[in-house]
This record gives sequence, C-alpha cells and structure tokens, in this order.
Amino acid sequence: MDTRASSLETLMLLVVCGIFGLVVGSFLNVVIWRVPRHESIVSPGSHCPGCDTELGAVENVPVLSWVVLRGRCRHCGTRISIRYPLVELTTAALWVGLAARFGAVWELPAYLVLAAGLVALSMIDLDTFLLPNRVLYPVGFLTGGLLVVAGVADGRYDTLVRAGLGGAAAFGVFLVIHLISPRGMGFGDVRLSFILGMALGWLSWRHVYLGLFLGFLLGAVIGTLLIAIGVKTRKDHVPFGPFLAAGTMLAIFAGFELLDLLHFGG
Ligand SMILES: [Zn+2]
Repeated sequence: MDTRASSLETLMLLVVCGIFGLVVGSFLNVVIWRVPRHESIVSPGSHCPGCDTELGAVENVPVLSWVVLRGRCRHCGTRISIRYPLVELTTAALWVGLAARFGAVWELPAYLVLAAGLVALSMIDLDTFLLPNRVLYPVGFLTGGLLVVAGVADGRYDTLVRAGLGGAAAFGVFLVIHLISPRGMGFGDVRLSFILGMALGWLSWRHVYLGLFLGFLLGAVIGTLLIAIGVKTRKDHVPFGPFLAAGTMLAIFAGFELLDLLHFGG
C-alpha cells in the first residue's frame, strides 16, 4: 500500500473521530443531566439552567461556545460549569485515541460507543451514586451488537466467543462480590462489569484480568487517598463505576505494554 495515502487516511480518521467525539460529548452532557432527572433526552432542546432560555445553534457549539461566552449564559449571565466543555473534550480525546489505537477496523465503532457510554456512566455515578439502566442497556446492547458485526465481518468467531465469555466471567465475579457486600458493590456495577468484560475479552483474556484489576486498584488507592486527605470519611459512599471505567480504558489503550512491564504471562 502507498504509505502516504494510508497516513492521510489515518489523519482523516483521527480528525473525523475528533469532530464527532465533540458532538457526541455534547449529547452526553444532555444524557448526564437529564437521565437521572427522568427527562426526555430528545426534546425539548437545550436550555440555560438559570433563565431557561432555549439555546440557539451558536450557543450549542461544543467547547467553542463555552470559551467564547467565557462560561456564562449570554442572556442572564449564569455561570455554566466547566464540566460541560470537559466532558466534550474528554470524549473527543478518547475517540481520537481509540482511532489511533485501533485504526480503521470493524471493531472500532464498538469501542467508540463503549468510551462514550463510560464517560456518561462515570459522570452520572459521581453525581448520583447510580448507574442507570437507561444508559447501561443501550451501551451494552450497542457495544455487544457492534462486536458481533465485527466478528462476523472478519470471521473472528473465536474472538467473539471470548468476548461473550469475558463478559459472563466478569459478571459472575462481580455478582459474588455484590452478594457478599451489597453496599460496597451495587448491582449497577455488576451489570457494568459484563460490558467491560466483553470489551476486554475481545482483546484477550489477560486484558480482562488486567482491566478489572486496574479498576479495583484505582478504586482502592484513590478511595484511601480521599479518606486520608479528609475529602471523604470512611462512612461516605465512593462510586466505583468511574474507577472500573478508567481501569478498562487503561487496559484497552496500554494493555499490551502494561502486561509486558509486569512480566505477566508471555
Ligand atoms: Zn441564562
């Protein structure tokens, strides 16, 4: 293949994923705000939380609108939280990263959906300590469905079966932990573990162990740290979803390098 043509293709893939990542991130902000409030995510259009004015097209441009308006509503001056552009930037960064990590392959869309879903679920978990089924189920079915498409398109049936088994294994382990400690691990985490195990299982069994281990490690280290510096007390609930999500994304991005570093298997 002509290397110059293929590097141009890669560049275009990264740019497209970056732009769509920003747009999807903007949609995720709507999901993060409305799903816990049991509001429709399609209508009405976005409103200012302060004065309820419906936002025009110019005020709805991801990141740029927030920067140009310096984080304030154009009509009433209410501060608009920096988390809106941050969610958009994080989603775009993850999408560009995944496009660079996987390239133009059939499984890329599954991982893009997964990453977007994990951003929304992490933010909702931080806000409410819940992982709502209204987000978990669409993310799970879409990710799974897209992996099935990829498996069939490439004839990678072994990989597909491993993804299914990875999901089932993670679900089983988390279910046991949930039954032992229902307060420490909610059933939302158990449902989430199926999706994570599936996405990691597509890559390899070692990715399943590594991703979930990193999730527990991050949760334990950061949870302990928050208690040590007095942000949280031992009695506070620390949401587990964001750590599981971060562990999985870390394993997806750097799994092979990390496994080499740990001399974990050969
Ligand atoms: Zn306003």
